[in-house]
Amino acid sequence: MTQTVVNAPYWTETAKIPSQYPYLSEDITCEIAVVGGGVTGALCAYQLQKAGIDTVLVDAELFGYGSTGSSSSILQYDFDYELKGLKELIGIEKAVRTYRACIRGLDEIEQITKELGANVGFSRRDSFYYTPCEYGAERMRQEYLLRRHHDFPVEFLDSEKAAERFSFRVEAGIYTSGMAGEINPYRFTQALIGEAVELGMRAYENTPVEVVTPDFDGITLETKRHHKIRAKKMVNATGIAAAREAARHLVQLKTTFCVVTAPVEDFSGWYNRCIIRDDGDPYIYLRTLPDNRILIGGLDSCHIDENGKLARLIKAPLSVQCKYTELEHRLFSMMTGISNIRAEYHFSGTSVDTGDGLPYVGTLPGYPNVYYDICTGSNGIVFGQLAADLIRDLYLGGDATDMDLMVFDRLKF
Ligand SMILES: Cc1cc2nc3c(=O)[nH]c(=O)nc-3n(C[C@H](O)[C@H](O)[C@H](O)COP(=O)(O)OP(=O)(O)OC[C@H]3O[C@@H](n4cnc5c(N)ncnc54)[C@H](O)[C@@H]3O)c2cc1C
Repeated sequence: MTQTVVNAPYWTETAKIPSQYPYLSEDITCEIAVVGGGVTGALCAYQLQKAGIDTVLVDAELFGYGSTGSSSSILQYDFDYELKGLKELIGIEKAVRTYRACIRGLDEIEQITKELGANVGFSRRDSFYYTPCEYGAERMRQEYLLRRHHDFPVEFLDSEKAAERFSFRVEAGIYTSGMAGEINPYRFTQALIGEAVELGMRAYENTPVEVVTPDFDGITLETKRHHKIRAKKMVNATGIAAAREAARHLVQLKTTFCVVTAPVEDFSGWYNRCIIRDDGDPYIYLRTLPDNRILIGGLDSCHIDENGKLARLIKAPLSVQCKYTELEHRLFSMMTGISNIRAEYHFSGTSVDTGDGLPYVGTLPGYPNVYYDICTGSNGIVFGQLAADLIRDLYLGGDATDMDLMVFDRLKF
């Protein structure tokens, strides 16, 4: 199994494990078996059980300790791809629909956090996407005009206007009100599972599924301890494992690096504690945490894995340290209005780059009775919610909204 997280992420380090679940020790039956208890599987299992579908959730390890445990958990309508970039990949109609779907996903997540009634660290935020470079300013203005044309609530900030709000150098940027959010991914995952269990779902940790045998009217899953789960359908929400199984030729693994600071006293030079992202390649992003910490992340690499192995050939432990050091330098140089910034947590995690930032969700020829639910990348959590709706609706035979955005054969690579 791929190691998805290195060093202790802030989220799992600072949260007590709220509930522990048994491993599967008998043969059972259910309507849908969801395999993978990260945030994607948890969202899906929650929606299924809430719809009255008898659901079982299993994970090979502990719930929420995969990629989910290292996520920066920024929820956005504008993810890795600018609207213009997405338009070039999938056409303007689908690109706009994708951004709107993300807004819907964010609204739904907010609603779910209210239903859960637990402290999952959700806050709605504004967002700021900017360029520090002169040569990026015109591109940023074109991107702003395109978004405004399609009625997204955007505001253009030139360097002068931006200087009134931010302490760092901005040539041009797009400020969007209220279309982003942040959450604690570990607590959210645990709360979803806890609530689904209250509704009747059965949940098992430390239960690796090793053999999957579909047949004409269902599917049988066999665990490492040779117990069987008989279901009508299975949802494969195993993250990187699912991507490798179903979409190996479509995806690339990438490592993202994060630094979380000790709490700071104020946020001078950081307007509204908005979500910040630059247009670098690789980019960096910043968010705040409810206890006044700062999370800076990004500098994604497809060549350095979390252990510092370069291009899978030589091990260069310093390469990971360099990423953390660069993130710290960027933070100190940007947030000059904030005193006594001190880094406290450093961690990295692996996720899947799908080429257009969108998830892979749905069925595949040759894999009967399996729904794939591969939601990774920089907006994986919002997509996880959209996918959960989609899979529930597919199972219930209803309208599968925006399915064409997430199907496997959407890209002509
Ligand atoms: C550093 C980093 C920063 C990120 N930042 C953001 C962000 O700001 N916003 C955002 O939306 N997304 C972000 N993401 C992406 C987001 O975290 C992922 O989309 C999300 O966590 C994926 O969740 P998942 O449940 O699909 O995968 P995982 O959390 O990896 O869960 C998969 C689970 O499947 C289990 N499993 C695997 N194989 C088996 C098996 N055979 N049997 C049983 N169980 C199995 C694993 O144990 C694991 O628990 C980030 C990712 C990383 C790594």
